[in-house]
Amino acid sequence: MFSGAIARADCSDGDIVEVFASDGSWLARGYYNGRSQISLRLLTWERGEAVDEAFWRRRIERALLSRALQPGHCSSALRLINAESDAIPGLVVDLYVGQDAERMSGPRTAALVVQALSLGIDQRLDGLVRLLQEMVIPDRLPQLGGWQQLAIYERSDVDVRHLEGLPERAGPVFGDVPDRLVIEECGLRFEVDVKHGHKTGHYLDQRLNRARVAAYCRGEQVLNAFSYTGGFSIHALAAGANSATDVDSSAAALAAAKRNLALNRLDESRHVLIEGDVFQVLRTLRDEGRIFDVVVLDPPKFAHSAGQVQAACRGYKDVNMLGMSVLRPGGVLATFSCSGLVPAELFQKVIFGAGLDAGRDVQVLEPLSQAPDHPVLLAFPESAYLKGFICRVW
Ligand code: SAH
Repeated sequence: MFSGAIARADCSDGDIVEVFASDGSWLARGYYNGRSQISLRLLTWERGEAVDEAFWRRRIERALLSRALQPGHCSSALRLINAESDAIPGLVVDLYVGQDAERMSGPRTAALVVQALSLGIDQRLDGLVRLLQEMVIPDRLPQLGGWQQLAIYERSDVDVRHLEGLPERAGPVFGDVPDRLVIEECGLRFEVDVKHGHKTGHYLDQRLNRARVAAYCRGEQVLNAFSYTGGFSIHALAAGANSATDVDSSAAALAAAKRNLALNRLDESRHVLIEGDVFQVLRTLRDEGRIFDVVVLDPPKFAHSAGQVQAACRGYKDVNMLGMSVLRPGGVLATFSCSGLVPAELFQKVIFGAGLDAGRDVQVLEPLSQAPDHPVLLAFPESAYLKGFICRVW
């Protein structure tokens, strides 16, 4: 609930409060932070439901159950708690199970990575961590392949915390997390740097899309723009791609992509790494007359606020036009946007506009979204942020 909707608040920041309508009737219970524009995050609409330890336990239990029941989960990592959409606003918890990349033998470690995005959660984090430690046990999530030791690491080093009046924070909470953990994803291996990687280490939300796009890559030359640690390329090469070219501005991410290739015993001679700005690299490739069969575009979030949506759409249009300019007629464009403020319909129009200006016909073959461990709560449609299209471009 936004600050403008609140007439009076008799409480302190971080408190669990009762919410009343202007006619005095009871509405809900939630936690308050007067320093944030989102002053109230609602936790329950049941008057008889107290927000106590048993409450948090029930919410974590529900999130665990929903992951345990998910069919076809082909990874040893998952998002366990997706904040608002798992009815725990402000808390993100990712779980990575795997082996220390340095040793590749020895016990399997489960690294729970927690992110406190709001003051209400920040103040209660110790209690929540204790519950997670007790409740997240291998038997509850058998599809992750089991583990012998659990470690917890905090990655609250995200700028949205400033909007809550909170500083960024990161570091070990419990146990030892290996510097690089090797997880399994759809039969492939990826190293994850939980301590320094983007988000909590790996783009878990794109897991199924990486596998889906790979199905189009057999025998093809693939350009993977905004590659990070090579996720789409590793899947593509494993599916029989002729070559995969990763483009990213981060040298560290490209170095990890190279190690991921080796981890999966894929042919190095089919893998090209280009460090640079995607916009510039695509222009150069276009001017050189380079042509690919499949182009993947998975840029970072372009729109961080409503005021940035127009500029973000211009960015999406530019990069998609450039992507199409290096794609053969009949080639495949897999294009994504993780800007929650750019809805799928708008993104689709932007791709259409890019096709028009590039003089290309674009057919959508498959609309894509985030993996099911990033559920969308219908009462909180903002939790649908990732959208993508696999297109054929003529
Ligand atoms: N597709 C990846 C995730 C991509 S995240 C996966 O499946 O894992 C976005 C990536 O874009 C990050 O690695 C970031 O380093 C990179 N990036 C951001 N802006 C860029 C730019 N202008 N040029 C090149 N890379 C960029």
